[in-house]
Amino acid sequence: MATVVDDLRQTFDTGLTKPYAWRVAQLRALRALLVDRGDEIERTLWLDLHKNGDEARLTEIDVVVAEIDHTLKHLREWLRPTRVPVPLLVAPATAQVVREPLGVVLIVAPWNYPVQLLLAPLVGALAAGCAVVLKPSELAPATSALLARLVGELLDGRAVRVVEGGVDETTALLEQRFDHVFFTGSERVGRIVYAAAAKQLTPVTLELGGKSPVWVDDTTDLEVAARRIAWAKFMNAGQTCVAPDYLLATESVAARLVPLIGAAVRRFYGDDPRASTSYGRLVSDEAFERLSGLLRPIQQGAGAARLALGGDSDAATRYLAPTVVTGVTFDDELMAAELFGPILPVVTVASLDDALEAIRSRPKPLALYAFTEDDRSRRRILTLTSSGAVAFNAPSAHLAVPGLPFGGVGPSGIGAYHGERSLDVFSHEKAVLSKPLHPDTLAVAYPPFTARKDSV
Ligand code: NAD
Repeated sequence: MATVVDDLRQTFDTGLTKPYAWRVAQLRALRALLVDRGDEIERTLWLDLHKNGDEARLTEIDVVVAEIDHTLKHLREWLRPTRVPVPLLVAPATAQVVREPLGVVLIVAPWNYPVQLLLAPLVGALAAGCAVVLKPSELAPATSALLARLVGELLDGRAVRVVEGGVDETTALLEQRFDHVFFTGSERVGRIVYAAAAKQLTPVTLELGGKSPVWVDDTTDLEVAARRIAWAKFMNAGQTCVAPDYLLATESVAARLVPLIGAAVRRFYGDDPRASTSYGRLVSDEAFERLSGLLRPIQQGAGAARLALGGDSDAATRYLAPTVVTGVTFDDELMAAELFGPILPVVTVASLDDALEAIRSRPKPLALYAFTEDDRSRRRILTLTSSGAVAFNAPSAHLAVPGLPFGGVGPSGIGAYHGERSLDVFSHEKAVLSKPLHPDTLAVAYPPFTARKDSV
């Protein structure tokens, strides 16, 4: 690992990565990797996650291509130094903010969107002119191997390297000195990464997870709401960091909405989602065990929670049906941690006030979703809660807007990226001041301070 990082540092020190032309060439090469080799990428995502090709295009490849296009369109303007006014004491002078690349950076990605979450941060790192180590997830092994090969073939190997592997390799990487660590993954590992980076005083971006709620009230079109919730929740078999984790609604809204979610699931995946090529699989046996373990007591009739949809599973193929559980309370096991799977708990509350209180009393979520046509409710949701993002009527869709910052707050993450913010993540804003020597107006500030100076 030390050799890889040393090599990259040497490259960075030669200045290879700094010219605008190099950055643009690398971004174009990355675009070609995604577009020209899209079929291969689709195949590995199918192998790793049973991810449908169209879904792979929409949620992985196209998201990164959109980020690249947006960046290529604006990069020159973003890189232009910005002039700022100087105060009287310092005038005459010019003051500018100049973006410089941070240096050698590490990007560590999870397995759930193994293309998007490795390569979208890379767009920012290349745009900023950094040298990069990419660490894909070992839990999406086919995609990891393919990306290692394609990056080696198509990007400038002097400045962009892929290190494959799991805990051991990442631990060894984190012992090296980087100028920034960009981590996407769980809160647990986020803490490990943060502690390792602190030893080197390395700045970090932590893109973590959490339980993102969705609130639905009776002013909305419940049929559309049901479709959109089912889409965002069961995409990639629920293994989406911004998926709605649980549903909050009044008893009467929940009673009408839950059957509509069932109808949406049948429309998307047919009567038997197991046979659908549009429905994913859980990533590992551990994930299968964890999620089916949460359902077991409910299937056995313990407690008040009931299966309203799904629940069936197959360990051999790591299949877990799109599942909705009603009668869930905040004390239930389903509400203890991020589910990260195709189980939607429905928690009923008396009012929006109660929903807001419940959200406020829990860790700040990565995203908060609401289906309401009531302006006052929207304003209250916006002002009385804190979350990485709020999306009205469109769960998960905010991450496809390059102009919006994507990131968490509090335990759901530190920092944000996408669009210009990705460039910010991997750049240092250098203050540059230039003042003429004559006249020597700084004389007003020179000692001795014993006598008051009337003029320069
Ligand atoms: P994870 O934290 O287990 O793994 C992420 C990365 O860290 C992998 O590359 C892995 O190899 C590495 N890693 C694992 N254990 C490590 C250790 N002990 N030391 C050093 N490195 C280690 O996360 P995951 O299971 O791949 O992904 C699921 C989690 O990621 C969920 O919590 C989800 O919400 C979150 N997530 C967040 C976002 C976001 O953009 N905010 C996106 C996707 C997933």
